[in-house]
Amino acid sequence: MSVFSHPEFDNHEQLAFFCDEETGLQAIIAVHNTNLGPALGGCRMWDYASDEEALRDVLRLSKGMTYKSALANLKLGGGKSVILGDPRKHKTEDLLAAMGRFLERTGDQYIAAEDSGTSVPDLQVMNRYTNNVAGVTERTGIDGLPCNGDPSPATAYGTFVGLKTAVKYKLGTDDLTGLKVAIQGVGNVGYRLAKHLKMAGAELFVTDIHDEQVRLAVTELDATAVSQSDILSLDVDVLAPCALGAVLNDATIPRIKAKVIAGAANNMLAHARHDQMLLDHGILYAPDYVVNAGGIIDIYYERIGHEHNAVRAHIETIADTLNEIFQRSDNSGRPTGEIANILAEERFMK
Ligand code: NAD
Repeated sequence: MSVFSHPEFDNHEQLAFFCDEETGLQAIIAVHNTNLGPALGGCRMWDYASDEEALRDVLRLSKGMTYKSALANLKLGGGKSVILGDPRKHKTEDLLAAMGRFLERTGDQYIAAEDSGTSVPDLQVMNRYTNNVAGVTERTGIDGLPCNGDPSPATAYGTFVGLKTAVKYKLGTDDLTGLKVAIQGVGNVGYRLAKHLKMAGAELFVTDIHDEQVRLAVTELDATAVSQSDILSLDVDVLAPCALGAVLNDATIPRIKAKVIAGAANNMLAHARHDQMLLDHGILYAPDYVVNAGGIIDIYYERIGHEHNAVRAHIETIADTLNEIFQRSDNSGRPTGEIANILAEERFMK
């Protein structure tokens, strides 16, 4: 297995492998870049098919966090960790404790938060052994309600801010009344985004693989239920992917009628070239990692002193970043995803 010559290595500052025989823990921590501050990123637990797959995932994801934090105006670098194993079968309190000790031994250049396969209670176990964990403190959420550390309300609010900004830029209106929005996935983020949009007067079209999520949006938010196969090609103003990655690809882009794409799903573009394809189709793509940064902003404030109005104000700066990206994209004729990456590099490579 190559490391320094790995295609995803991209000059990572630090890579640490950990094995604990007693608990069976096998984990990797990747720190991509700490020019702007310590690396913060999720701790993912996943049943990887191979060590190679785990290494590729952690390298790719940690690099993504460097770009995300830089564009979210945070004094943070990018990092990520992965625990190899099926969270439903292999996750035990002892294993999480071992991960906490690993985080402590690796030093304070990486701070872990929840991710796929880990939850706030899991991070609370790790937190007993290290300070290098975030998103675990009870506080007032950005909506003014008690929050156990779940970043979803902040992510949903940031996505709402990003969507409104893109609509203003592309469609020239601040008023969301009657705006047709299709949401793919009404889970933790998508449902909360739907609530914000409903309050702003938008007309909602939703789909989900879980019928109860759809039912909730239909009964509580007066949304129209749509089949999974139709959601991307609806005749709507905005498409908000909030479920899974790679939904913007060769097969889907020609069918999309929405003029704006702004949602929370990570890695929406199946391939970097789909950025250009969206531009060619006259669709304004609000880069996913800029739009969905509300959660990391929220977690950052937990470390520097949480005050929910300050968090809200910081999340609203997503609008400024997007406007800069859209403007530079228009001026240069380059697609928005590419411009976002350039802007991030200008910030963290200084
Ligand atoms: P979630 O699991 O709570 O919600 C996702 C929803 O999508 C679920 O209801 C699921 O049933 C549904 N879904 C899955 N596959 C689908 C499909 N093929 N078609 C339609 N619906 C489908 O997850 P979440 O926390 O709401 O996150 C949503 C997306 O946003 C993910 O891509 C996540 O990586 C990203 N994201 C989340 C956060 C956060 O704070 N939660 C932060 C940044 C990015």
